[in-house]
Amino acid sequence: MTMRRIFAAACLILCAVFGFTRPALAQDDPRAVLMRAAEAMGGLDRLQSLDSVVYTGFGQRAYFQGGGNITGDPMAPTKWQQLTDVQRTFDLGARDLPGGRALYQERWGQEFPFAGLFGMDFPRRQTVQSGELVLDHPLPALLAALHPDTRLGAVTQEDGLIVVGFQVDRTPAWIGMDPATHLPRFTRWVAPHPNLGDLTTTAWFSGYLPFDGVQLPMGLMQVLDWRGQVNLMFQVDSYRVNASAAQLPPFAQPIAAEPVRPPSTQVTQLSPGVWDVRVNGAGGAVVEFANRLVMFEAYGGEAQTLLRIDAANALVPGKRVEAVIVSHHHFDHTGGLRAAVSRGLEVISHRGNEGIIREMVERPATVFPDALARHPHPLRFTPVDEHMVLEDATRRLEIYRVIEHSHMPNAVFAYLPAERILLEGDLGDEAWQLHWWGSAYAANIRHYRIAPETNVPVHGAGPVPIEQVFANTRRQIAAAVEYCRNAEAGGRFVMGCPVQYDAEGAVPLEPR
Ligand SMILES: [Zn+2]
Repeated sequence: MTMRRIFAAACLILCAVFGFTRPALAQDDPRAVLMRAAEAMGGLDRLQSLDSVVYTGFGQRAYFQGGGNITGDPMAPTKWQQLTDVQRTFDLGARDLPGGRALYQERWGQEFPFAGLFGMDFPRRQTVQSGELVLDHPLPALLAALHPDTRLGAVTQEDGLIVVGFQVDRTPAWIGMDPATHLPRFTRWVAPHPNLGDLTTTAWFSGYLPFDGVQLPMGLMQVLDWRGQVNLMFQVDSYRVNASAAQLPPFAQPIAAEPVRPPSTQVTQLSPGVWDVRVNGAGGAVVEFANRLVMFEAYGGEAQTLLRIDAANALVPGKRVEAVIVSHHHFDHTGGLRAAVSRGLEVISHRGNEGIIREMVERPATVFPDALARHPHPLRFTPVDEHMVLEDATRRLEIYRVIEHSHMPNAVFAYLPAERILLEGDLGDEAWQLHWWGSAYAANIRHYRIAPETNVPVHGAGPVPIEQVFANTRRQIAAAVEYCRNAEAGGRFVMGCPVQYDAEGAVPLEPR
């Protein structure tokens, strides 16, 4: 008798004596556990004969999964996106797909001032989902786990719940059942994330109600294995089971992935030893020093950042990029950070970003290996407080802490005083339609007594003359003021309204 069997036998006796709930054991049949859940939800025959289930509702989603807050401080307030007019249609008749497929439709808007109208105008968007994308609801998740093609894993226990592991394509997944009701309490899956490596999401289900004999949850909540970040809070307000085909929306998109624009690298020399290197409309400067190159920002993702590093390394024979200045922690601006560290780059940023950058670099990517998993390097982080200078006989590059900026209080920008070139992320963007921190550019120039002639933004087509930066900013501030005026006329008081800044500073208060 193995030790495990001895414990199992002992437990069977003790648990019977003390009246404990029967614990799940390794030799429990995972399919039998799932069958009990199917029985609790309405019976396997009933579930497998469903053609469609539709739910509607509303909720909040964490912007950038918690990577878009004003700072990377774990106690920084979460920025939420509001989800309205949500309708999700499960097509369960697509029986070749484990879990079927879903048409997800929503309107969304930012619950914070955002630079684009597209984040403020509640467009109706839709996407077709299958595979791991339908594991966040117990009905398709259970059907996926019970699909004949699905490989089931072990039965385990977690905090009193009975958990069955399974796999959908390459995605490891789990479903946790309440031992009293046998209803699914959570599902969980692992997905690759550019900033966070393997990211595990647990979707929690609450408030089950019967609809045409099928038990379905009214509360949907998602929590990440990063910081315990709540990623979704969702309240269902209706379910329809087997609605007539005439009531259902068409599944417009094919399931095949959309064609991705092939990345193209664009290199522009700005001055001897200073280049703008960008990929698909985002990037930043590369600056030559006596023995090395320094790059601004690791934007976008692994592919984008490695392309920029490779292009930079080809600029000067014998010199390579050895450091990256990271303007701020937002997940688009740090999407290539793990890739940069995989090439051994030193990371220079505001001291307030060290914690979140360390978290990003130290998380594993073993299920979905990325460049950093294949080429591990420890993080070398150089903090900037107010001001730091990189200087040798050939070059002087000044790095400053950004002031007067509600979007990113822990940020840096850089300045080449001899060349009069300013390097920045999110101080401005010619593509922005609205500007809520429009005084920041002028405020930083004044505060640090610098005199840039050319701006190299992370976002956009490339370098911009300084007069153009101010013209863009004034136009974008005027559009934000107009946006607020229209919203107020319609009886809505939007976050960020009224606009607090013009291009020079905070506007005078009106007594009211
Ligand atoms: Zn940005």
